[in-house]
Amino acid sequence: MSAKRILLSESEMPQAWYNLQADLPGQIPPPRHPATRQPVGPADLEPIFAKALIEQEVSRERWIEIPDEIRRVLAIWRPSPLVRAFNLEKALGTCARIYFKDESHSPAGSHKPNTAVAQAYYNKMEGIYQLTTETGAGQWGAALAFSCAQFGIKCKVFMVKVSYHQKPYRRSMMHVWGGEVTPSPSEETEAGRTILAEDPDCPGSLGIAISEAVEAAIARDDTKYTLGSVLNHVMLHQTITGLEAEQQMKIAGDSPDVIIGCVGGGSNYAGLAFPFLRHKIAGAEMRFIAAEPQSCPTMSRGQYRYDFGDTAGLTPLMKMHTLGHTFIPAGIHAGGLRYHGMAPSLSYAAKLGLIEAAAFHQIECFEAAKLFAETEGTIPAPETSHAIRAAIVEALRCKETGKEECILFNFSGHGICDLSSYDRFFAGALEDFAYPQDRIERALAQLPVIE
Ligand SMILES: *Cc1c(COP(=O)(O)O)cnc(C)c1O
Repeated sequence: MSAKRILLSESEMPQAWYNLQADLPGQIPPPRHPATRQPVGPADLEPIFAKALIEQEVSRERWIEIPDEIRRVLAIWRPSPLVRAFNLEKALGTCARIYFKDESHSPAGSHKPNTAVAQAYYNKMEGIYQLTTETGAGQWGAALAFSCAQFGIKCKVFMVKVSYHQKPYRRSMMHVWGGEVTPSPSEETEAGRTILAEDPDCPGSLGIAISEAVEAAIARDDTKYTLGSVLNHVMLHQTITGLEAEQQMKIAGDSPDVIIGCVGGGSNYAGLAFPFLRHKIAGAEMRFIAAEPQSCPTMSRGQYRYDFGDTAGLTPLMKMHTLGHTFIPAGIHAGGLRYHGMAPSLSYAAKLGLIEAAAFHQIECFEAAKLFAETEGTIPAPETSHAIRAAIVEALRCKETGKEECILFNFSGHGICDLSSYDRFFAGALEDFAYPQDRIERALAQLPVIE
């Protein structure tokens, strides 16, 4: 009988991260300064990020060693299980084999601590006293607060004000781990004060919270900023999932034909996909599918061009798939997927034709999540439900064509803190929303023209 869960022992945890930049044909276009538009050098980033992380950002080394201190913390929940979704296969009546890499067992309940732990460690090594960041629904803030607690550094999170009041549970998690949570916009920064002066009732946005967190980091020598997705070093830290999955697929005596993940900024998908992508670059036949919301279709309907990472246009310009930094996504429940841009590395791989995109409506994703919960047990995060929907579509294609393919997807997190979203789904209160093309075009028309 084939195993349900394929487990690795602690000593089999990967000892190095995989850096896709070593194997990509050509180079990912470099970030550019927001004002001068010239390529940004490592020195430009030093007021904001730890030096070790900046080195990883631009490194072309194929393997980068994972320090033992990081592996020790990751061992709280890693290696994570690879699970064969027998019950889901049966419910679908498919001849496809479906596996998922289960990243929901981390203390924060998602893949995000894979990089948060590494970022907290390198900052601690460089004598940093405090880290700042922004968070929307709270997944990233919770991952960072947990990681800072592990290494004894302070964590200051600017949380989008409307989520601060509407999503209390992850805020509480951050407090348990000793994090300081400030509703954004706040009176603590110039960026926040300016916005409050204009609109005292401003509900906040991720773009505003980024501006506040960066300002708070620049203001003090002992404080740095952290980002939970998009950047190369974040993708790098996440590759531990794909490297584990590669070992686990071998144990299962199988090998994936289709590799799927949901994409917000791209980190959980890159983490699973990049170690396998090197085999496709070397000639192996595999398909890579990035699943995103119809209401925020960054890869399927955005353009590949330089854009800012934040709403205010303060961050470096990055070449990526983007809907325009002034794009305002609808308030769908997969909050972690509502981002106008995409990781430059993932965007570049898509541009090369290595990765395809698929967009789904939220109601079909909740339906997929419900089927998954009934068959495989764990309740998925609304973000994760997009990967499940994409896997089901592929499995049904196999059923139709009779092709016995192997499908692997990343189960990026559980939905225990998102149950109110499920309640709204059952109450019939969710709407599907495809972003109007003319509004995408208007946002894209405002972008700076570079090259
Ligand atoms: C944040 C989050 C995502 C989206 O972020 P990526 O950087 O694209 O991975 C997906 N799933 C879960 C559970 C998340 O918390």
